[in-house]
Amino acid sequence: MAEHHALVILGGGPAGLTAGLYASRAKLDCVMLEKGMPGGQVMVTDWIDNYPGFPEGLSGFDLCEKMTRQAERFGLEIRSGVEVTRIELDCEPRRLILADGGGMTCDSLIIATGARPNTLGVPGEKELTGRGVSYCATCDGPFFRDQEIAVIGGGNTAVQEAVYLTKFASKVYLIHRRDELRATKIVQEMAFANDKVEIVWDTVVKEIRGGDAGVESLALENVRSGERSDLAVQGVFVLIGTIPNSEMLPDCLEMEDGGFVKTDCEMRTNIPGVMAAGDIRSKAVRQVVNAAGEGAVAAMSAEHYLVHGK
Ligand SMILES: Cc1cc2nc3c(=O)[nH]c(=O)nc-3n(C[C@H](O)[C@H](O)[C@H](O)COP(=O)(O)OP(=O)(O)OC[C@H]3O[C@@H](n4cnc5c(N)ncnc54)[C@H](O)[C@@H]3O)c2cc1C
Repeated sequence: MAEHHALVILGGGPAGLTAGLYASRAKLDCVMLEKGMPGGQVMVTDWIDNYPGFPEGLSGFDLCEKMTRQAERFGLEIRSGVEVTRIELDCEPRRLILADGGGMTCDSLIIATGARPNTLGVPGEKELTGRGVSYCATCDGPFFRDQEIAVIGGGNTAVQEAVYLTKFASKVYLIHRRDELRATKIVQEMAFANDKVEIVWDTVVKEIRGGDAGVESLALENVRSGERSDLAVQGVFVLIGTIPNSEMLPDCLEMEDGGFVKTDCEMRTNIPGVMAAGDIRSKAVRQVVNAAGEGAVAAMSAEHYLVHGK
């Protein structure tokens, strides 16, 4: 018979770890499955300045380690290196199929598998991530005070964040591959009206150049003329979309915007006993602080479901 738990938490980022903290303090029969090491996207974040309780800021690694230790203090069982490849929610108990061929069932499930930023896939991007290349304006904007930076993209997020980044940067180049922006008119007008924003039309990034001290310049190509140029910048914000880690989720789970899970404000999905929390949710703001808050709410909803039923 497959291993069974009252609650399975899928994903060990801030949402999953906080759900685990609440579930283990509530003494639920609970296990967390994480395909890598606990921590999620925070593990690849150099420095976090906007998580409350740490007035001096702290490294992403330290925050992950503290969150993990706190959950384990109350007995949370974390299984690292365990990937779930398929979930079946049209049966009771709910069924999880693992990459190693094994399986597990549960009465309640919290989906906290997060998301990942879309990347350009150009030379230099990976090497300079965290040293001038960023995927989050809210997180890293304040590090670029009085510097010249570039934002890549043309949708609402890219254009809005380009305007937001003028609070810090002396100049923001908005580099877009087409001759018109995809952002809504009102958002476009904000960018057009801002003296610090210069839009570079019909242009793609071919390479991000820099060294130990960080980003130095971008190699650009005009997609119409083929002309190549160099643009000196100290920072690059790649804002070309976020991909949900939802490949393993079944069609019966309500999702929108290309795979983000719909929930109510108690983190309940359309399937009884199944909650979602953190970046995998359909929402506007994706930060550690709200991922953690949603993890707490999801665990309390799971507890309510396990005690009181539907
Ligand atoms: C470069 C960068 C910098 C950032 N900086 C900041 C910042 O300064 N401040 C801030 O507040 N936010 C920041 N963020 C955003 C923040 O990291 C996220 O909002 C937060 O990590 C979301 O937490 P989560 O638990 O929902 O998901 P994630 O952190 O994405 O964690 C999800 C976890 O689920 C696991 N998982 C996925 N699929 C499976 C599966 N099939 N089986 C098992 N496990 C699975 C993953 O391995 C991962 O560990 C940054 C993000 C990035 C990319």
